[in-house]
Amino acid sequence: MHELGITQGIAEAVLDAVAGARVTCVHLEIGTLSGVVADSVRFCFDLVAEGTALEGARLEIAEPAGRGACRDCGNEFDLAGPIALCRCGGGDVEILAGRELRIRSVEVE
Ligand SMILES: [Zn+2]
Repeated sequence: MHELGITQGIAEAVLDAVAGARVTCVHLEIGTLSGVVADSVRFCFDLVAEGTALEGARLEIAEPAGRGACRDCGNEFDLAGPIALCRCGGGDVEILAGRELRIRSVEVE
């Protein structure tokens, strides 16, 4: 489960940034094409947070849907998965959204 490592990385970045302040809420963005399972991050967060300034903090996760644009015909469409094929048959698709994996903001006391 690589979400544990990812969650640890997130927790370390947040703890570095807040320099000891008590964190009440962490807002994350995890795109549906990022390959990271938001529910697993939620689960790991409590483990990682225990005994740190993150303990008891809420975790809010936004999950942007996948969106792609075909480089052949310019069509924009929703992506259900990381492997994209346009209705024109083109497979040269630029991913516009859905691969996000970032900390949006952190609330401290
Ligand atoms: Zn196309």
